[in-house]
Amino acid sequence: MARYTGAVCRLCRREGQKLFLKGERCYTGKCAVARRAYAPGQHGQARNRKASEYGKQLRTKQYARRYYGVLEGQFRHYFEMATKMTGVTGENLLRLLESRLDNVVYRLGYASSRAEARQLVTQGHFTVNGRKVNIPSYLTKVGEAIAVKENSRALDKMKAIAEANSSRPVPKWLEKTAEWEAKIAAVPAREDIDLPIEETLIVELYSK
Ligand code: SF4
Repeated sequence: MARYTGAVCRLCRREGQKLFLKGERCYTGKCAVARRAYAPGQHGQARNRKASEYGKQLRTKQYARRYYGVLEGQFRHYFEMATKMTGVTGENLLRLLESRLDNVVYRLGYASSRAEARQLVTQGHFTVNGRKVNIPSYLTKVGEAIAVKENSRALDKMKAIAEANSSRPVPKWLEKTAEWEAKIAAVPAREDIDLPIEETLIVELYSK
């Protein structure tokens, strides 16, 4: 399945919630969800049907998938991995998604959105335990050191992004050890993942 290339704000309006796909704009009054809180399209304002149980499960899965910018096949793969882990499957799924290197880079404020983080990782601006990693889906582990590559730190682009995102809080499971360095301090707890969904709905959807 191809990656979505249309207007990303439509995805947020479709889900009725912010997906934070556009960086700084998402935190301002210019956000399309704040300005037009109804689904896109000709009949967007008229839609008032009560969602079926399946509809709720599907929308929850789509929301989580789009929030992390993951394709359907990859998302399903994470679900399969989550079922094989000890603990609660829904929480395991969210932990796997949070552990992706692109998400970690975004959470640390080294990118304005997950899409930008994905691009910066692919371009080779980051290291894990001192070695360049350019795979956005790389799953980080507790104790690993994540850093912006030495020669990328001087780039105006990287400085501007870090400056613009410096006030965004870093979650507890990540620890900034220096301006351009951090470590994975813990496995993210559910309460540290600010995703406003009931992940059990995704488990129910995929368990049919
Ligand atoms: Fe979504 Fe951001 Fe667009 Fe708002 S500005 S609708 S949060 S992508």
